[in-house]
Amino acid sequence: MTTQDVEGSRSQATLVLAGLVLAATGLIAFLPSTGVEVDPGIGLPVASAFVAVLFVMAELSKLHVEVRGQAFSVSLSDLPLVLGLFLLPPPLLLAARLVPAAVVMLARRTEIPKGLFNGGLFTLEVGLAVLVMDALVPERGFGISTWLGTYATVLIVDVVGGAVVIWAMHRLGSAPSRAQAYRMLAALVVSGMLSTTLALMAVLVLHASTAGLALLGTLAVAVALAHRGYHRLLRQHNDLNRLFLFTQSVGAEPRTEEVVHQLQMEAADLLNAESAVVRLLPGPEAEGDDKSADRFLWTAPPCAVPRTTRDPAQRAWLDRTGVRDAVLVPLHDDGQAVGVVQVANRRGAASSFTEDDLKLLQTLVAHVEVLWHNGRLVDQLRHEATHDALTGLGNRTLFNDGLQALIDGGGHGATLLLDLDRFKEVNDALGHPVGDVLLEKVAARLLDHVPTGSQVARLGGDEFAVLLRGLTSPEEALATARAARAALTGAFEVTGTFLEVGVSVGVAMVPSDGGDAATVLRRADLAMYEAKRTGAGVVRYSPVLDHRSTGLLELAGELRSAVEQDQIVMYFQPKESLRTGRIVGFEALARWMHPERGVVMPEVFVPLSEQTGLVGLLGEAAASQALEQCRTWLSRRPGVGVAVNLSPRRLLEPGLAASLDRLLAEHEVPAELLTLEITESTVMADPDAAVRAMHQLRDLGVRLSVDDFGTGYSSLNYLHRLPVQEVKIDKSFVLPMHRDVGATAIVRSIVELAHTLELTVVAEGVENEPTRQALVELGCDVGQGFGLAYPMPPEDVQDWLVRHDATRRERRAGGRPRAV
Ligand code: C2E
Ligand code: CA
Ligand code: CA
Repeated sequence: MTTQDVEGSRSQATLVLAGLVLAATGLIAFLPSTGVEVDPGIGLPVASAFVAVLFVMAELSKLHVEVRGQAFSVSLSDLPLVLGLFLLPPPLLLAARLVPAAVVMLARRTEIPKGLFNGGLFTLEVGLAVLVMDALVPERGFGISTWLGTYATVLIVDVVGGAVVIWAMHRLGSAPSRAQAYRMLAALVVSGMLSTTLALMAVLVLHASTAGLALLGTLAVAVALAHRGYHRLLRQHNDLNRLFLFTQSVGAEPRTEEVVHQLQMEAADLLNAESAVVRLLPGPEAEGDDKSADRFLWTAPPCAVPRTTRDPAQRAWLDRTGVRDAVLVPLHDDGQAVGVVQVANRRGAASSFTEDDLKLLQTLVAHVEVLWHNGRLVDQLRHEATHDALTGLGNRTLFNDGLQALIDGGGHGATLLLDLDRFKEVNDALGHPVGDVLLEKVAARLLDHVPTGSQVARLGGDEFAVLLRGLTSPEEALATARAARAALTGAFEVTGTFLEVGVSVGVAMVPSDGGDAATVLRRADLAMYEAKRTGAGVVRYSPVLDHRSTGLLELAGELRSAVEQDQIVMYFQPKESLRTGRIVGFEALARWMHPERGVVMPEVFVPLSEQTGLVGLLGEAAASQALEQCRTWLSRRPGVGVAVNLSPRRLLEPGLAASLDRLLAEHEVPAELLTLEITESTVMADPDAAVRAMHQLRDLGVRLSVDDFGTGYSSLNYLHRLPVQEVKIDKSFVLPMHRDVGATAIVRSIVELAHTLELTVVAEGVENEPTRQALVELGCDVGQGFGLAYPMPPEDVQDWLVRHDATRRERRAGGRPRAV
């Protein structure tokens, strides 16, 4: 039993109990009545029948006042009550009141507790009326005093009755607000006074002539019909109003789900029902069983299924589904039935659904059908705008959106761009229909050979793209690309012929290879062309490719003379202790001051140097400049070291250690102040050779650091084998830290792992204070990034250090320590 059930049964019990108490009170009030002398003039049986019939009519033409989903009735029942007080002895009056009420409630299948409560209430009202009337109007006459007494009696009965009803609503949990309660009482009193007036007139007429009965009957019927008609008009007006509001609320941008949702909300409210659902026809794949179980629902014409329905099919459906009553209207799209709108369970026990409700729902549904149809069209257009008709894959727009969302969300991933190698030949030789089938098969096979969760798109022609989400390592992306390529290289059977196509794949990483979707795609494209050009199959983007078309060969030719003419200049970016705020060193970053092109960045010319055999020359120049600068600041800043980056090729060059040893001596810098940054991917390319080379460097006494840590996932297993003192967390994890808990979690685990191995942890890419603060909290040792300083030319370093010291002192004096 749920709490609701408990609540429910508790309030049911309250109703029953209240009914009994009311009945008892009514009967007690009833006792002193001596049985007034009445002379109906038309004989007691006729009078009783007359009064009883009026009670029934009053009951049937009730004004339903619905307050917060519970229906309550205001009726003209005071009319027969007053007539009864004049025409019938009290016991007969009570019978005339209760018997018709019981019949009506039975016919309506009113729940028993509610019926008992109503019975009790009626008994109380009759008892009270008789008691008060006897006291106020002992002699029923025709004068003003009688009338006033009657009005007073009805007033008292109505107020007491109204109060009891409001109390009951309270107990049922649907208490009206104070204002609503007053309005209800006012309505009761007004209709009571009206009824009394009519009743007193009737008594007068009857007194004058028995034949007046016919006149009265006609009048009563007219009043009841007018009453009911007025009520109906009022409701229709209300409903129309809401229908209008509904059409206003949806329609701006029709999406089918939206329309369905609105319809469900509105239909339930409009018809005062507990639920409204749009049940869509099950597709052909649905179980046959389900279909037959709901056969009635799918085949029923628009209909109201009232609580009391006698229709066997409707009855059977109600019994099977447990629905009390319902209105069903089929929903069509393009003349085809697509579902049924089912509004079920009229709230409150007073009424069930009628033909009016059916009409209302039909109007609503007719309107919704138009919206639905438009919504479907819009959905379809939206789908077509973002999908490729041939393969059903997403198109460039959709892919761009997915890629941009990944970037905006601070996620990691890779974009693979695939281009078929000999597709044009197939198309030309075998015709477009064959080409189309081939493309479909390629799409299907590609979908089968990428990790689940990847987004696959056809960008156009024979070009496909795959978005791999949540992966950080370029090696992993390259492996996936190779696997996809291998899968697509197998023969495709097209109309009995076996066709083979090659495929070239370009890979670009997110976020390291571009800050927006267009850049990432362009770079993946560059890599793909490189793969095609060189026949390498799979190529990862590198900045060199940017310059392929813009005179990169020329640039490569100039590099040697650039090094010799000192056009390569080292910039220095400070590293700060996150514990003390002290500067612990600088990283030397190379810049090419090109006389015509301006500053050329290392990501362009460092790879060029590798391709042109200038690694040694460039590396030596870089290290030399770095050590020279270190020497200049050492006199004033003992212990502030310098870090230089080692090219992947350089690490394995035989003369490296000797060269560095010579340079250290030449510049008189203690070896432990030089840190060599070696990228993780360099190590992973040939771990055994790398570890051997690193041991040689360690023997010099220099420090070693794993750069770009976290981007080559397998290195976690290797870290303990590497003779390094430091780990530099790649900036692609640090940059998104302030908005991405995932990135923070990765940084935390790297810090923990490195600390377990007693390594210093440096975070690069610290751009803002929140990130810095988060790193402090994670226990990261050193920070480096634009937030502290951009890489600066050597002549700026001294001044910068002085300024930095000043702000540090100020901060401390101001009581705002920067480190914990
Ligand atoms: P890296 O070793 O990861 O160097 C850090 C890069 O991050 C630098 O780019 C630096 O300017 C940039 N950076 C520093 N702080 C921030 C920050 O807060 N936000 C962002 N977004 N970036 C920041 P740069 O100078 O363009 O160097 C790029 C790469 O070129 C370096 O990456 C390094 O791998 C290589 N490189 C630079 N100088 C040399 C060199 O002398 N020799 C060799 N072999 N490679 C070098
Ligand atoms: Ca570095
Ligand atoms: Ca780095």
